[in-house]
Amino acid sequence: MFERSPWFYILFISLGNVIAFPAGSHKSQSVCGYESCPKGVPGMLNVHLIAHTHDDVGWLKTVDQYYFGSHTDTQNAGVQYILDSVIQALLHDPNKKFIYVETAFFWKWWMRQHDSVRHQVKILVNSGQLEFVGGGWSMNDEAVTNYMSTIDQMTWGFRKLNDTFGECGRPKVGWQIDPFGHSRDMASTFALMGMDGLFFARLDYMDKENRLKSKSAEMVWKGSPNIGKKSWLFTGVLYNHYQPPPGFCFDLLCDDEPIIDDKHSPEYNVDDKVSRFISFIGNESKYYATDNVAVTMGGDFNYQDANSWFTNLDKIISYVNEKQETEGSKVNVFYSTPSCYLKSLNGANITWPEKSDDFFPYASDPHTYWTGYYTSRPAIKYFERLGNNFLQVCKQLYVLGEIGPEDQVDLNSMREAMGVMQHHDAITGTEKQVVASDYARILSKGFEECSAVTSAAIQKLMNPATKNRKNDLLKDVNVDEVSDSSEEIGIGAAQAPPTVSISSCLLLNISQCEVSEGSDPFTVIVYNPLSKIVNHTVRVPVSGASYIVKDPNGAELTVQVVPIPQEVLQIPGRVSSAVNELVFQAELLPPAGFKSYYISQGNNLNTVIEQFEIIGNQKQLKQGRGNIIKIGSGDFKVGIGAKSGLIELIERGDLKAEIKQEILYYESMAGDNSIFAKRASGAYIFRPNGTDAVPMKSKINRVTSKVYRGELVDEVHQQFSSWASQVVRVHKDKNYAELNWVVGPIPIEDGIGKEIIMRFTSNIQNNGVFYTDSNGREMLQRMRRASSVENNPNKELEDSVLESISGNYYPVTSRIRIAGLMGETPAVLSILTDRAQGGSSVKDGEVELMIHRRLLHDDAFGVGEALNETAYGTGLVVRGQNIVILGPMAADAPASPVYAEERQMAEEKLLAPWLFFSKTQQSYEEWMKNTGKEFVGLKPTLPPNVHVLTLEPWSGNTVLLRLEHFYEMNEDAILSKPVTLNLEKLLAFIQPTFIRETTLGANQWLENSKRMNWKSESNSVTEDTSGEENFLEQNENGVFDPTQVTLGPMDIRTFVIGLPKY
Ligand SMILES: [Zn+2]
Repeated sequence: MFERSPWFYILFISLGNVIAFPAGSHKSQSVCGYESCPKGVPGMLNVHLIAHTHDDVGWLKTVDQYYFGSHTDTQNAGVQYILDSVIQALLHDPNKKFIYVETAFFWKWWMRQHDSVRHQVKILVNSGQLEFVGGGWSMNDEAVTNYMSTIDQMTWGFRKLNDTFGECGRPKVGWQIDPFGHSRDMASTFALMGMDGLFFARLDYMDKENRLKSKSAEMVWKGSPNIGKKSWLFTGVLYNHYQPPPGFCFDLLCDDEPIIDDKHSPEYNVDDKVSRFISFIGNESKYYATDNVAVTMGGDFNYQDANSWFTNLDKIISYVNEKQETEGSKVNVFYSTPSCYLKSLNGANITWPEKSDDFFPYASDPHTYWTGYYTSRPAIKYFERLGNNFLQVCKQLYVLGEIGPEDQVDLNSMREAMGVMQHHDAITGTEKQVVASDYARILSKGFEECSAVTSAAIQKLMNPATKNRKNDLLKDVNVDEVSDSSEEIGIGAAQAPPTVSISSCLLLNISQCEVSEGSDPFTVIVYNPLSKIVNHTVRVPVSGASYIVKDPNGAELTVQVVPIPQEVLQIPGRVSSAVNELVFQAELLPPAGFKSYYISQGNNLNTVIEQFEIIGNQKQLKQGRGNIIKIGSGDFKVGIGAKSGLIELIERGDLKAEIKQEILYYESMAGDNSIFAKRASGAYIFRPNGTDAVPMKSKINRVTSKVYRGELVDEVHQQFSSWASQVVRVHKDKNYAELNWVVGPIPIEDGIGKEIIMRFTSNIQNNGVFYTDSNGREMLQRMRRASSVENNPNKELEDSVLESISGNYYPVTSRIRIAGLMGETPAVLSILTDRAQGGSSVKDGEVELMIHRRLLHDDAFGVGEALNETAYGTGLVVRGQNIVILGPMAADAPASPVYAEERQMAEEKLLAPWLFFSKTQQSYEEWMKNTGKEFVGLKPTLPPNVHVLTLEPWSGNTVLLRLEHFYEMNEDAILSKPVTLNLEKLLAFIQPTFIRETTLGANQWLENSKRMNWKSESNSVTEDTSGEENFLEQNENGVFDPTQVTLGPMDIRTFVIGLPKY
């Protein structure tokens, strides 16, 4: 057979550029973007009026309530009216401009418009009158989000805009005007998405003051030290939050007087208004470096009646500019957009200051640190993270299962639900309770729809008939890096297995699963969404005490049955007959593939080897340590003090660390918020009442621990009080401990809100330095501030009360770490999270994470409710998991081996193997004979430092693929190195028809990306290197070489891949 590389065909197809995606076809006729910008007048102060509306994708009202404008008693806000009204106003006057941000709302509106309206909107977009900025599905939070989900949600918003408007719909600036602090990873993300700049409003009040005074509110933000200049982003802090100047809010929701220009009217106010406006602008311009200023003209849900705004803005422009003629005024006002303002700044050609850390924590006054939302609503924060795990599984299985052209319903529902969840009042927990419940509904619906996809895909992949076709595809491909375990699916006769029902158990978190606890036999399909082979400890809730588990080869596995702690059995709302968990090890799970296990009840009791109880007394701890009872059978051990009942020791090989772990709580500040000093702890704000965290008040004042030892895992079930407990687990051959806690209902009968923390106390000398992750990606160094005053250049605030705890809290979306000498030995202690939490090192040697909170006061930032979550008639009970890693630090090496372990562990938690359950009618023999039990999606295996970040069906007959090098430079001697891989080989199994690289947001071919250049302090120019790397890898004929794709530390590369038509 004549064989020809698929790339032979690719050349023809891609050079012909027949696909319209991602760049649209509108560009040639249109003058959108920078070309449509108004030209300022040299020598004048050019005032860019930015007409905008800030439309929260849920906050005080649900997404639908905001869209349709219902429940006006809660808030007068209807997004559909805003868009209706703005579009009409723009159509009437080509000089007017407006920006729109939240694609979730825009899309809801667009889908309901007649073709004639759509046509008009396209004209507005193509002329630059209507410009999309930001453009994500929502305006995502930056503290508690994971980078995988922010990239997804931005990309999905971009996708809709790109499909609809082409190049003119491509957002060129980030517009994060409301999130409560800003992450460096988000800056990097925007830069890699091809954006030219970012504007935001909220940063520490003292930082803002200093920046304005020193004219450094506009800067070049160095997004990633690993990625370098292509991650740098011009960033501007808005002058007046995102509000109009005082007295100039012309919305129906505002009380300011309109401009009254009837000279005969006693109400005439033009002179007064104009002079106030010019005075405001004059003041603003003192703090900014160029002859341009931006003035935000809008606010939350403004422009329901666009005319009330535009009529008055027209008059401002007219009367202010009139003074140029009449009085020689040098103020020039016009309708503009953030990107046009950015263009003017770029044109000024000056040197800008630089910024290299992030904007956390955000404080709005001396007592108000917005660090409570890092933990607020821990259950919804977990549900969101589980949502990301399942969305990635769902997308991958959609592609691997060849479900067909991209579905319009099943997958999109989850994509959009996750996009909504990233909103800065969703995952943050800063919404009203009714809205939080609606987010949970939306996400549940997403799970439901995606389950249809995963079920269909797995059925197909388990079908031996599928196997044959797969094998045909693979026949001509020379795959030499296939792992040992990568057998193709299915063995035996080529007949379809009986259709089975395959389901997920979303309540495994509370050890509940209908299929596993109620069926005998049943199968568990363990799908591994990672790009590497993993071993996974499977835990399945069961009602019996003895089980037999067989792997795809029919081998009987070692199993262990562990009792579910009473505290879990009693979680309100748990409906389950499971009293035990069946534990077994799923070995060598293939990359993007699965293995199936057959489970039936047995006769031999898989009992624990050893079980005993420790009753500790926290008071006795002071009288010296008693015996230490160690768990863990390998290199890693955790020791429980016989007297305290607490973890007191962690050992790893020769490294022995005295580390005490406790669950404690801060009492929350109560207050009426009338003055800064009376700020209450609330959904946004964390403010302890001034005392240190205290231990649980328990009648018996002791911690009881039950120890279970087994062949696979040792566990200690610890009870701290009637509402706080945990299970400490050390798995055989694993170098970490799991802490699985149950907290709640948090008692409030004493009238005091409580913020529950997990604290580790060690003798590691970290000298005030600790590390937290930025959106789960790079690690940032944090320096403890002894007090807010000490570092405060503004001595007038010297008499303020110190917020030395909440002011030192940082978002921990993935992990927190301290490192330093422990006695003579350098050591690293890292704690991983399973959801976002706030964390800090408040004293040397300590690490703490806030795991739950229940409050009785509102903090007066709009929610109007205390964060007092209840469920099933009582305070919300939450179960979660933190992982403890301890390790050595070589004195002469820049990195500890723990850093790589952290990354791998974090990755394995974020994209954990997903369990699909199936009640089977088949006997074991039938199952062995009929069903495909193993599937390998990804072969050959990728290098260990690179993974598939994204694999999903995309526009037309294409697939979106992102590869990520997920180590930082200097983190590991080998894994931190750049790696070059052969994409052709990697993708051989789908026989792509073309492959093209795009920017991170997949809405622009990388070769077309030309970002603005900026001169910054370090005397360097942010040269546009976004497209360069791509060109470097093109050979002499200018053809992209997919056999040589290089990724440096932290690089993400995004590809659109054409599939053959089947
Ligand atoms: Zn908002």
